[in-house]
Amino acid sequence: MVERLSWKKLAWELAFFYLPWFIIGWLFGGLPWLLLGATVAMLLWHLHQQIKLSDWLWKDKSLTPPSGTGSWEPLFNGIYRLQKRNRRRRKELANLIRRFRNGAESLPDAVVVFESDGSIVWCNKLAQELLGLRMPDDNGQHISNLIRAPEFVSYIAEANYDIPLEMRSHINSARTLEFRTMPYAEGEFLMVVRDITQLKQLEGMRRNFFANVSHELRTPMTVLRGYLEMTEDPDMVIGPMWPKAHGVMTEQLSRMESLVEQLLTLSKIEAAAKPELDHDVDVPAMLDVLQKEAQTLSGDREHVLTFDVDKSLKVKGNDDQLRSAISNLVYNAVKHTPAQAAISVKWYRTDKGPRLEVTDSGEGIPPQHLDRLTERFYRVDKARSRETGGSGLGLAIVKHALSHHDAELEIQSEVGMGSTFAFTLPERLTC
Ligand code: ADP
Repeated sequence: MVERLSWKKLAWELAFFYLPWFIIGWLFGGLPWLLLGATVAMLLWHLHQQIKLSDWLWKDKSLTPPSGTGSWEPLFNGIYRLQKRNRRRRKELANLIRRFRNGAESLPDAVVVFESDGSIVWCNKLAQELLGLRMPDDNGQHISNLIRAPEFVSYIAEANYDIPLEMRSHINSARTLEFRTMPYAEGEFLMVVRDITQLKQLEGMRRNFFANVSHELRTPMTVLRGYLEMTEDPDMVIGPMWPKAHGVMTEQLSRMESLVEQLLTLSKIEAAAKPELDHDVDVPAMLDVLQKEAQTLSGDREHVLTFDVDKSLKVKGNDDQLRSAISNLVYNAVKHTPAQAAISVKWYRTDKGPRLEVTDSGEGIPPQHLDRLTERFYRVDKARSRETGGSGLGLAIVKHALSHHDAELEIQSEVGMGSTFAFTLPERLTC
């Protein structure tokens, strides 16, 4: 380890250098000339060392300095140490930046860093996808030049970042984005952009759901109120109108009851965690009961009901949910099929697993409605559905109950010919 330079060391070095010349000059004469010669030699040697140092600093790529001698050695080594320290710091800093960038890349949101004048410093990959930015091409570009939506331009111009900005994506108007901006380093801002399309859709669905429920309840309530007001007149209660009024009131009440019941079933299935599918469900016995209930529901419309059931085919699953799913499909067939038409229910084994098919010869469903039938309150013919006492929730219940059993509802329908509603449970659920 070479020590640093000191006055003492320099003085000793000079003394050692001049001493031999001094002795020679003193013994043989010509001392001034000898001292001058020695000083010139020393100057040349120093100049040579300077050139070596400069060559190493500017030309040489190697980390190790040239081997300096004498008083230059500590200088060479000192510079080398300094350089090594700087390299280490640079490496640490580069690691830190890499870690930050990796962290920002793994965020589920788009991140853009920009300066207070709006010029982009950096953005992650998600920002490139979501906002159409390109790195490093867009480095230094003004952010408002690249996201050219009027709301965004004034958001950046006003620089009031207390409230997040929500707007339609400038590259895909079907998507809604939320921009949150916060101060980052000095003179820099960090913008986090989230795709909130789904959240907005859910919000809309929730609003629609409440509007639908209120609307569904209001209609029977208005009818009930009307009749109740009529009963203020005592003559009405004993008059000939009463049996009809009583009948309508009872019917409206059962409509409300069935709506509330369906709502409760749906919320129970939706809120429930995916059930453990380890209970034996006796689907043939369930279908046996359902056949009788369907007959009763059909009443004097006398549908021709055929139940073709594999009596040995039991499954693992959730009893309540499977009953809800199957009964809704069977009741729908009865409700939406004209009198005396045929309805067939089949429960059988397939290669993929147990399958239920409910086929009717009813009015059928136009193809444009098929995708939306399982939405809550969606009906093809609102007036007709209400007439038949439908709540519009039946198929939503079916969809949820089936998804808890890893199955999907398949709908095939032809207008005027009839419809088939079917599902196949996974083979692993066969008992
Ligand atoms: P609803 O209580 O009105 O029957 P669902 O969710 O069970 O509600 O069904 C949604 C809509 O799907 C019904 O309003 C009806 O228009 C249509 N639909 C369901 N099942 C049948 C069927 N078997 N035949 C014809 N249309 C049907």
